[in-house]
Amino acid sequence: MATADLEGVVAQVLNRLKDGEIKRGDPPKNPKGTFKAVADAVAAARSSQTTLIALPLEKRREIVANIRRRAAEDVRSLAEMAHEETKLGRVEDKIKKNLLVIHKTPGPEILEPLAYTGDDGLTLIERAPYGVIASITPCTNPTETIINNGLSMLAGGNTVVYNPHPLAKGVSSYCVDLINRASMEVGGPENIMTIMGNPTIESANELLRFKGIRLNVVTGGPAVVQAAFAAGKKCIAGGPGNPPVVVDETADLEQAARGIVSGASFDNNIICCDEKEVFAVDKIYDRLVEGLQRHGAVLLRNHQITRLQKLILQPDGRHTRHEWVGKSASAYLKEIDVPFRGDPRLIICEVPFDHPFVQTELLMPILGVVRVKDVHEGIDLAVEAEHGFGHTASMYSKNIDALHRMARVVNCSIFVKNAPNYAGLGYGGEGYTSFTIASPTGEGLTTARHFTRERRCTLAGYFRYV
Ligand code: NAD
Repeated sequence: MATADLEGVVAQVLNRLKDGEIKRGDPPKNPKGTFKAVADAVAAARSSQTTLIALPLEKRREIVANIRRRAAEDVRSLAEMAHEETKLGRVEDKIKKNLLVIHKTPGPEILEPLAYTGDDGLTLIERAPYGVIASITPCTNPTETIINNGLSMLAGGNTVVYNPHPLAKGVSSYCVDLINRASMEVGGPENIMTIMGNPTIESANELLRFKGIRLNVVTGGPAVVQAAFAAGKKCIAGGPGNPPVVVDETADLEQAARGIVSGASFDNNIICCDEKEVFAVDKIYDRLVEGLQRHGAVLLRNHQITRLQKLILQPDGRHTRHEWVGKSASAYLKEIDVPFRGDPRLIICEVPFDHPFVQTELLMPILGVVRVKDVHEGIDLAVEAEHGFGHTASMYSKNIDALHRMARVVNCSIFVKNAPNYAGLGYGGEGYTSFTIASPTGEGLTTARHFTRERRCTLAGYFRYV
């Protein structure tokens, strides 16, 4: 689906929600695909994978299409339940995120075969399923990751067992139930995706080490990435980020201010790709900060920054207090007695480079803005602040040399030029989406291609037509 079409769908859904036309579903009493024991969840997924690969490919396409349809119809439940359960982010942004994965996760069409023909005959290279895949999902994008991973894995002929974040287990289980019903409705198997009803770190590790599962996929912070590597199997890991933005003196400042506020406030900044800190060159710094305020950001004074720091950071001054992750800007402002009007999207703070609002992945709508003397200093500090995650970075500039340099030295899975970072996820930018950006293991935006393995079939001496 093209970006303009997706924006149309989002607008339509938001209007229908406002008019009360789309009703919220009730959680099922016995959700399909939810299991207590890891072994049972794996066995059920294995049995359904045997059924799945015996079905015609056309049926697989039909199942994928029906999951998209049913998830889109129930997008309000997915967004509201995730918000109620996790207390993170904003419902209207969760609707956008869910519609993005529903419509822009590639299906089986991305698995193009490759053929070589010549004097020695025909060799065909195809992508085959791994079988059952284990997937560990985050609380920040619970249903988005399940839908996105799930459609890609299913497109490749796999089934999947999820260990969701305990904070989002209800909505995750609801989402898997919806997916299984959508599969069965068009003649697909039940348990095409299964999930742990009572997920823990222990069940995650049991799943990651489960015999017979050939591929682990994890999406989360540093601990789960380490756990995946420690399991001693092939893994695809989407890890943490700390995306910097550089703004230089050639930038369209109106575009930069609008884009930064929109990107950094998206779902209250809980998405790993959201803008986390800004480096603005001295020449345009004041005008950029003024523009950010004009677009709805609230600028704090120094004593207010100190109070905010105490509120959201642990006594070590570096780690966040979990209870403050992903709240709306108004919640922080109320707590530190800063007056505001309406529902501000973002808080901005003028800080030095070594400040925790620059160095720490806050996952809050709070953005550190650093003054730099020129674009080169901005790029160098941005690379440092990204901490080598290789995740996401962006830049507002019309200087092709500066853009080129930043792209090369920051060397991230996603580099966005002159747009909010979510454009790099396919929202307002070209290309498909993924909610597992695998930087530690190098796949970048994951698709069915990564959840399948290469198989070569050679016929010597025949089928050369040229
Ligand atoms: P989290 O790391 O707390 O949890 C993610 C998942 O890992 C959860 O299911 C959790 O239960 C599990 N987990 C955590 N520690 C574990 C351990 N030691 N062993 C086994 N499982 C473990 O992350 P979160 O708060 O849910 O999500 C936010 C983090 O995830 C941020 O750091 C963000 O940047 C990152 N993230 C990355 C991507 C990506 O695509 N690269 C996408 C979303 C989120």
